[in-house]
Amino acid sequence: MEYRKNEVLEMEITDLGSEGEGIGRTGAFLWFVKDALPGDRIRASVMKVKKNYGYARLQEILAPGPDRTAPACPVARQCGGCTLQAMDYTAQLRFKENKVRNNLLRIGGIPEETLQEVFHPVIGMKDPFRYRNKAQFPVGNTKTGVAAGFYAGRTHSIIPCEDCLLGVEENKAITKEVLSWMRENRIPAYDEESGSGFVRHILIRKGFQSGQVMVCFVTNGEKPQGTGKSYGKDSGKSSGKDPDVMTGAAERLMKLPGVVTVVQNINRERTNVILGRESRTLAGPGFITDSIGGTVFEISAQSFYQVNPVQTEKLYGTALEYAHLTGNETVWDLYCGIGTISLFLAKKAGKVRGVEIVPQAIEDAKRNAARNGISNAEFFVGRAEEVLPAWYAEQQRKPEGTREKIDVIVVDPPRKGCDEQCLKTMLAMAPDRIVYVSCDSATLARDLKYLLADGRYTLREVQPVDMFPQTVHVETIVLLQKLNS
Ligand code: SAH
Repeated sequence: MEYRKNEVLEMEITDLGSEGEGIGRTGAFLWFVKDALPGDRIRASVMKVKKNYGYARLQEILAPGPDRTAPACPVARQCGGCTLQAMDYTAQLRFKENKVRNNLLRIGGIPEETLQEVFHPVIGMKDPFRYRNKAQFPVGNTKTGVAAGFYAGRTHSIIPCEDCLLGVEENKAITKEVLSWMRENRIPAYDEESGSGFVRHILIRKGFQSGQVMVCFVTNGEKPQGTGKSYGKDSGKSSGKDPDVMTGAAERLMKLPGVVTVVQNINRERTNVILGRESRTLAGPGFITDSIGGTVFEISAQSFYQVNPVQTEKLYGTALEYAHLTGNETVWDLYCGIGTISLFLAKKAGKVRGVEIVPQAIEDAKRNAARNGISNAEFFVGRAEEVLPAWYAEQQRKPEGTREKIDVIVVDPPRKGCDEQCLKTMLAMAPDRIVYVSCDSATLARDLKYLLADGRYTLREVQPVDMFPQTVHVETIVLLQKLNS
């Protein structure tokens, strides 16, 4: 059967792909349809045709499936950030659980019987909205003036939206205030096409425990004018700007509920990367504090920090349970970021060593350790797959009996998973327990297959945690136990 572009088809959606796209069939031919859900009977138009599958655009839902619900956000489909918002939350959780289970079965080769014993139901959220402690609103020009919102599709044009339902309530008043300040002072928004203009993004962070809010302006230079840089066609009209206009903005924002600091980040690069390297504090200390499980963290505009604090607490709590610490253990925390897991575990362990590739994150980790009076945590900058083998080789050169025993290794790698060299060294170090925290269950499954291959470890626990409701992402935490330990 041949299909032509724009041809209209009717089909029933029977499955959901890993990115949340609906999957349906016409005969033996497979279709991927964004925004369609299992059980939906739909009409769709052909976009792209491959050998035995294709992509089609949803035109009409002829009959909705059982999991379909009205999205809470009016711009959910346009924004595309919440791929699963039209799906009932219980069904979202079921989808995520299946995704993890299937990856472990198919990619990891974990037997069905094992999974039946070790696989726990996903930990969901009681309220799956307003969970993000960080929001980044791009600012741009629209036909009706400056606006903050999100990029439409894969373009750089902005769809105004000052209140993302995943973000905190405070975001709305802050973005509104920034836009008023821009209009009143004729501050131009950055223009992606020409690279001119001034305000690029508004970044907002909130400590859920502390209630503290940070506002960060990402700008295309230090000041709207007078830095010797051209700000394009808008700059001519906006003459006579106060050189301290940024301080003025900061003063206004500091009056809003929760705001304790205002920061400016300068990004002159023509890039999709939001933050530049330079930052300056306009008001307050330049950071907010927040706590996870009683450990206090300083968070600057640039710091990596888990975005869903409610679920992070559950995730780290599970990591702590799986690490099974009694107070004397030596623990490695690989891919440690700003040391959140390391410091969480340090209170219950003998010694913790963290490894992280980003030097600033390690500076944050050390400062946070000191701030919390934690002296049994040590941090290394570098690649896990280099730092760990080097440390292990050094141990091997010591006389037997004086080598350090490692009790627990925790890993929390980025989506691509662990490097093979890292996994190999972990096996050589033979800790009693390996706790693997993963944001991509496909690479988790691949790495588990490697770690379980020689039969010295068994899979004891698998716990999915929903850190990102309304999206297809799911976090998984796994415990491997060394046999006879
Ligand atoms: N455990 C932390 C951060 C996890 S995110 C937390 O829970 O907050 C993964 C981290 O791995 C990032 O901070 C990233 O910078 C770091 N990273 C990426 N590749 C790495 C590598 N090869 N070696 C060490 N760290 C790496």
